[in-house]
Amino acid sequence: MAADCIFCKIATGEIPSEMVHEDERCVVFRDINPQAPTHLLVIPRAHIVGMAHLDAADLELLGHLLVVAGEVAEAEGLAESGYRTVINWGPDSGMEVPHLHLHVLGGRRMTWPPG
Ligand code: AMP
Ligand code: ZN
Repeated sequence: MAADCIFCKIATGEIPSEMVHEDERCVVFRDINPQAPTHLLVIPRAHIVGMAHLDAADLELLGHLLVVAGEVAEAEGLAESGYRTVINWGPDSGMEVPHLHLHVLGGRRMTWPPG
């Protein structure tokens, strides 16, 4: 837990969120500024800053985040229509919150390439 991290505080419940999934390793909540009809954020409870901070010790956790992303997307009714998963890292990506998070976006047709 990083003392000044908004997503660490969401994971502990210190900052309220619309939580859709919680387990020992991760939580999933609705994005406060949704970019699609369904916009969820899957985050590890552990404070990992982002992609550039991962190593082999994180393999199991990363697999878990992806499996949970698929499960919550299915629970949202997106399994057939489809959805997009995104992990931003660094200034060029537009990343705002330095705590690893996986976006799950669905409920509308996406464009490609992303902006
Ligand atoms: P990123 O640009 O990849 O760092 O994404 C950060 C996301 O966190 C943005 O989509 C924000 O809308 C979202 N966000 C920021 N603060 C909150 C919050 N308190 N509750 C839910 N989502 C948030
Ligand atoms: Zn954090």
